[in-house]
Amino acid sequence: MNLMLLNTLFSEVKTSGLHGRYITNSDIEKCLENLSKPKISTLGYSVEERPIYSLKFGNGPIKILLWSQMHGNESTSTKTLFDCFNVFETEHEISKQILEQCTLEVIPILNPDGAERYTRINANEVDLNRDAQDLSQPESKILRQAYIDFKPDYCFNLHGQRTIFSAGETNKVATLSFLSPAQDQERQLTANRKAAMVIIAQINELLQAEIPNGIGRYDDGFNLNCVGDTFQSFGVPTLLYEAGHYRNDYDREEVRRLMFIAVLKGLEVIVNGVHADAYKAYFDIPENAKCFYDIIIRNAKCRTMEGCVDIAIQYKEVLKQGKLEFIPIIEEISKLNSKFGHKEIEANQFLVEAIGESELNIGSEIDFVILKNERISLKP
Ligand SMILES: [Zn+2]
Repeated sequence: MNLMLLNTLFSEVKTSGLHGRYITNSDIEKCLENLSKPKISTLGYSVEERPIYSLKFGNGPIKILLWSQMHGNESTSTKTLFDCFNVFETEHEISKQILEQCTLEVIPILNPDGAERYTRINANEVDLNRDAQDLSQPESKILRQAYIDFKPDYCFNLHGQRTIFSAGETNKVATLSFLSPAQDQERQLTANRKAAMVIIAQINELLQAEIPNGIGRYDDGFNLNCVGDTFQSFGVPTLLYEAGHYRNDYDREEVRRLMFIAVLKGLEVIVNGVHADAYKAYFDIPENAKCFYDIIIRNAKCRTMEGCVDIAIQYKEVLKQGKLEFIPIIEEISKLNSKFGHKEIEANQFLVEAIGESELNIGSEIDFVILKNERISLKP
């Protein structure tokens, strides 16, 4: 499985019905109708009684459970899953290999109410990824029951992350991040943790040619309320995938392609046999840091501050009448020498002003600034 082949495959199978960041049950229901191979079932219902779907592919001996959109506003990997489903619909060699060796159970949207509202939390305002012990929510119970019934050999826990993350304390954005979660306070390197590390290390190696130094790993602080830590503690290798930011890709369509490569590569490593003694390369992946803002205006004079400052702007994602908007909000006004903007605007010590009555203050929404009589849009 090489990059050229996977990229060609992606362009052939990309699901045209799914695009952008706002992906809900009604979007995926249309796509489910086009699939002929999987066994599709409804595992149960969300707080607001939306169905939670499961798809089963293949009939091989290795069982892999994958779920996405446990956080309702993290939709990139859901798009990726449907692209993968289209691969499984073909007679392609990759498809045959995976489906002969593995049985996959996939839950594309675990939190359909959060997806509908574009929130991380569910309709009861609970973060499902902090509910793995209490199992207080119907969505958490459904995932646990799926785990109990299916008895997976591996778990893929698919998420999305904000644009703030860098791979290490660097100016390299963490376009993808991974974690083999800890399963105890001591963060012991158990066989199942190492197996997850081996898979992640091989995904990292393959994707370096696409995104050099653009992959990070999360720290493995132990929290049994997180689903990954809990499933890992059951002795099942569990991988956290996080789809992040790629330059100018606020719709996360490029990252969708990179996730597609990462998911299929992960499956391929499993099919070929995971040798847990090769786990050490995992630790070469830099730990994530928070070095990015969406925009930084450098060396600006502004009426509210003495001297020259940098102005950091971060997008707030707001759902308005069924459409997602990116609202620029001022996050920080100070010298930001160790931070980077996905977009940087050099003010060269000139005055930067807001339009009309508004001031440049932390927390204010700012769609445009005026710099040297020029109006600059801050929208993506
Ligand atoms: Zn998440």
